[in-house]
Amino acid sequence: MADCIFCKIAGKEIPSGMVYEDDRVVAFKDLEPQAPVHVLVIPKKHVESILALQEEDKELIGHILCEVVPKLAKELGVDAKGFRIVANTGEDGNQTVKHLHFHLLGGRSMQWPPG
Ligand code: AMP
Ligand code: ZN
Repeated sequence: MADCIFCKIAGKEIPSGMVYEDDRVVAFKDLEPQAPVHVLVIPKKHVESILALQEEDKELIGHILCEVVPKLAKELGVDAKGFRIVANTGEDGNQTVKHLHFHLLGGRSMQWPPG
């Protein structure tokens, strides 16, 4: 989608600290890390949020959560102690980039409630 910063990162039109790529997914370092490990895992295809997912996207989300995230957690060294996955959604979720992304945060003890 034109003017979507994460579509541009996925298409390598703008640089990022990419840590993972396959045919449907990329993961890259967050510009403003909130933890020692903070990467964003996104589908290459533009989907605004969880609310915009279609039936045909179920396999893609399963791939991200069941395969890509565990693989990245191991590679980034946060599998043993744990980590957090966050998908901020909509206004109250404080979603600032309107391209579905999963924050993978780790390397420190997380707080609850998240604020
Ligand atoms: P959210 O507030 O959940 O929509 O998260 C958007 C995230 O994208 C924030 O954590 C930003 O720091 C991050 N971000 C925005 N632009 C970039 C960029 N060009 N490269 C990497 N991370 C970015
Ligand atoms: Zn996009």
